[in-house]
Amino acid sequence: MTATRVLKSGGEAVRVSLGHGVTLGGGDFVVMAGPCAIESVEQLDKASAAVKTRGAHVLRGGAFKPRTSPYSFQGLGEMGLKLLHEQGRKLRLPVVSEVMDVSQLPLMLEYVDVLQVGARNMQNFSLLREIARTRRPVVLKRGFGATLEEWLLAAEYLLDGGNDQVVLCERGIRSFDTTLRNTLDLAGMAWVKERSRLPVIVDPSHSTGVRSLVVPMALAAAAAGADGVLIEVHPTPDTALCDGPQALTPELFGSLMQTLPAVLGATGRKLGGAEPLAAVGGAR
Ligand code: PEP
Ligand code: MN
Repeated sequence: MTATRVLKSGGEAVRVSLGHGVTLGGGDFVVMAGPCAIESVEQLDKASAAVKTRGAHVLRGGAFKPRTSPYSFQGLGEMGLKLLHEQGRKLRLPVVSEVMDVSQLPLMLEYVDVLQVGARNMQNFSLLREIARTRRPVVLKRGFGATLEEWLLAAEYLLDGGNDQVVLCERGIRSFDTTLRNTLDLAGMAWVKERSRLPVIVDPSHSTGVRSLVVPMALAAAAAGADGVLIEVHPTPDTALCDGPQALTPELFGSLMQTLPAVLGATGRKLGGAEPLAAVGGAR
């Protein structure tokens, strides 16, 4: 292993400040939720309200979508980012969205609190170097063909470039078995968690591709020590323009949020949340 800064021996455990008082890496469990793609004012409005009222800490939504086919919905671009930004401000939630290319960075910096580097870009080293310069918090997804060491070395680019506000995200890898969309590597997540000083979250949506498996795998991630989850939620999954089969309905998301405290409690942890305003003021 040639990564050094990302390892526990490389310094203190990293706490990532996502905005609106939400932090990752302090032990509490953080839930990021929202639609795969921002589709319309109405869809994002409903999805945002659904996740906020059920206790999500961060709002997700894709505006630039890395689709396998060029003929699939590619996202609303800047319009989507604007809508996401407005929802974040209105609901007082930090927002996260994927940046696919260096050229999109100025726009992203204007509208999002947290940058997401997708699985397909994990080893886009020039993108990682530029993101490092921004110092903006970043969720670094594991490439579906990347080893654990390659994933940690990709994070090393960000830390080496001066940005330690990095969250690692296990989102499934491609294996010999194609029954599910991907293979969720929970043991790999736990291995990285043991060795790295960065927070590690799990995406049970892309790692399974199957709605009924998302809640159980999110709970398994919590039990296995993940710092949080990134989950796709859609007000009407059957009409989704992207990733409908894996999207949770608001009701299923609600049942996950109700079950998480018991699973976290069994390992001495709890759901995170924004710091009370009094505590924030007192720290200043
Ligand atoms: C996503 O989160 O919307 C996404 C495209 O994920 P991944 O990069 O893991 O495929
Ligand atoms: Mn998706």
